[in-house]
Amino acid sequence: MRKPIIAGNWKMNNTVKDTEALLTELQPLVKDAKCDVVVCVPFTDIVRAVELCKGTNIHVGAQNVAWADKGAFTGEISAAMLVEAGAEYVVLGHSERRQYFGETDETVNKRLTQAIRNGLKPILCVGETLAEREGNKTEGVLQVQLAGAFKDVEAKQAADVVIAYEPVWAIGTGKTATSAQAEETIAFIRSEIAKLYDRQTADAIRIQYGGSMNPSNASELMAQPDIDGGLIGGASLKAADFAKVVNF
Ligand code: PEP
Repeated sequence: MRKPIIAGNWKMNNTVKDTEALLTELQPLVKDAKCDVVVCVPFTDIVRAVELCKGTNIHVGAQNVAWADKGAFTGEISAAMLVEAGAEYVVLGHSERRQYFGETDETVNKRLTQAIRNGLKPILCVGETLAEREGNKTEGVLQVQLAGAFKDVEAKQAADVVIAYEPVWAIGTGKTATSAQAEETIAFIRSEIAKLYDRQTADAIRIQYGGSMNPSNASELMAQPDIDGGLIGGASLKAADFAKVVNF
């Protein structure tokens, strides 16, 4: 009985003006969605996005959060700042953060616990590189990422985290995992959550697929029993495409 959740990850795209145009076009197209609809926008767009989405079924999220409450952390944005701006969700541990900005399982864990403490709903990204998949290391990599991210997180809190399984080789490449590959790996992630916590938590937690998900492959991916949604990069930048994914 998990409610599907489709989230757009705008990455470093869209000024405030672009945000106004995109969300105004998107709202009527997704108003009857059966899933939770989220847009994770750049920090500078959050306040305007929240204003525009008030009274609609679109929820707004950020793309990272600092692990400290406040202080000498130049360039970081705190959980309190996000909450006051109206953000509900926050993407954490995205592979682009891990690859370009030195994010590790330890820093992801610190950000995750900080998000939870402040009432933000984390969308935790995990996934293997192409070399890791080809070297049969996918399960080991995911085990380490999950154990690291959920360190010191209680079962009740974990059940409210959304996990995004994003094979790094499928992000922004146009290569999608087949629905069978995505289902198999997401079912493995769910079994790991059962090991880290219990069956009830594993059954409750929502796990998305992410990696070149688009209007043409969304319905097949969403038909898989363990896939509870999608984290959508490129296809979330066009209202019509994102709406088609949302209305899978
Ligand atoms: C992402 O950025 O999380 C993502 C899945 O990107 P894309 O859909 O463009 O592959």
